[in-house]
Amino acid sequence: MALFIHFFQNADSNLRMLLTRHLCYSAVRVRFAPSPTGKLHLGSLRTAFYNFLFARAHEGRFVLRIEDTDQTRLVPGCAEQFERILGDFGLSPDESPVSGGDFGPYTQSKRLQIYEDAASQLLESGHAYPCFCSSKRVEMLRKAAARSGALPGYDNLCRSLDPSEARQRLAHGEPYVIRFKVAKEPVDFQDVVYGPLSQLMEEGDFVIVKSDKFPTYHFANVVDDKAMKISHVIRGMEWIASTPKHVQLYRSFDWKPPTWIHLPLITRDGSKKLSKRDADAFVDFYTKDKGYLRLAVLNFLIRNGSGIRNFEPNRLYELKQMIEQFDDTLIGRRNFMMDHESLEFYGRQAFRYESFETLLPEVLARLEQDIPDVNPALKHPDYIRKVVDFLLNHEEAFSMLSSLTTGEFRFFFAIPTTADGVLAKFDPEVARTLLRELLDSSTWNLDSLKAIAKKHKLAYPKLFNLIRLSIIDSSSGPPMSELFEFFDRSECEKRFSHMIELIAKRTNV
Ligand code: GLU
Repeated sequence: MALFIHFFQNADSNLRMLLTRHLCYSAVRVRFAPSPTGKLHLGSLRTAFYNFLFARAHEGRFVLRIEDTDQTRLVPGCAEQFERILGDFGLSPDESPVSGGDFGPYTQSKRLQIYEDAASQLLESGHAYPCFCSSKRVEMLRKAAARSGALPGYDNLCRSLDPSEARQRLAHGEPYVIRFKVAKEPVDFQDVVYGPLSQLMEEGDFVIVKSDKFPTYHFANVVDDKAMKISHVIRGMEWIASTPKHVQLYRSFDWKPPTWIHLPLITRDGSKKLSKRDADAFVDFYTKDKGYLRLAVLNFLIRNGSGIRNFEPNRLYELKQMIEQFDDTLIGRRNFMMDHESLEFYGRQAFRYESFETLLPEVLARLEQDIPDVNPALKHPDYIRKVVDFLLNHEEAFSMLSSLTTGEFRFFFAIPTTADGVLAKFDPEVARTLLRELLDSSTWNLDSLKAIAKKHKLAYPKLFNLIRLSIIDSSSGPPMSELFEFFDRSECEKRFSHMIELIAKRTNV
């Protein structure tokens, strides 16, 4: 020890800082603890991300624990999907239901014995008691409180039950829950982001074990954080209201609570909390629906620089750089704003930054999802590289892959399926004659196209519009010269002939 102190005192300041940091955080273990009740929420991804950054920045362990004790809300397959999504984002946990670890099982429904033992401990020490009140009575109390404008809660009736009566009722198999005796005094605790907090719990003794013998969230969460040696609890600030319950549970067991780090709310405009009804509240919206690259979504989640040292707002960070510059003492209280403009910005940057090897599987997966019957030749890496190069060279605003399969650039992979666009602007006979003439013309350059337009007494931009509509089913989009350059003559001929057929089908001629 003396040797270490000597070494420490003589080390240079950088090394001293590193050693101090290492000693303070020597056993960092953090966890992401979602309930598998549906699609992954953007806020949950942010929580997982910050836990991951924290673990990596402090050389700790990142744990995924599935909190499935509310069996009524369970969605099958959801837990596995969460873990897959984390992996896709590059945030794979070190310990989890799939990868295992020294503190498993990592799914709460497989740990029931642990909670039962912990509850017995609290019953024995007098911190908890069995409650036989029917759900009807509890509901009545809730309604009465609502009528009088009071806080809903339990009136602690069974707390004063004679122990021998309680034992008798238990022996008779009467249904019961286990409640925790809540302290009358306010509970004080320290949060890294929100500072010292003090909260009086007025809703009475809360349930820790339900009548189905499953623990409640609060109880299982605390018991597991302790059992899994979680050093820091990093989660959304909506959990601050539950923290006094957790702090009291820790005290009743005589356990040291973890360090609390609550992250500010995710809002649309700085104040209103994001609603679960909003499509963009879920991760799927960004990845599956819109096709933003995952690096763009991660940058979006740190867009206000919270927790990043020397944050530069107009820069796309790689995950590695985020880890290097992560500093939890810089996590601010300012609510996160869903600013879709910055998402667009990061979407554009990420598309430009990512390698073709990263983009290729993303594009193929989108094709599989949106255009399953795509011509196999168009799935060839060489063709996809040609498309990507086109976008990089000509489309500065390109930001999300969905526009390749369901939006304005779908034409790269699918030919027009209706003649509606053409027929809205052209007489069917005129359109067909012009398209046939194009097929017959041996060259397509400005002069030859102008000559065809002139022959039919048409302003040449109108002919260009017909060409665009026949190739890409839109009057806007890349200039015609770029389209001719991209598609070879045979592909254009194919699309012109196809349009002639579509017109024939629509007009029955
Ligand atoms: N199961 C809780 C959730 O769904 C975990 C909250 C916490 O991190 O303590 O978010």
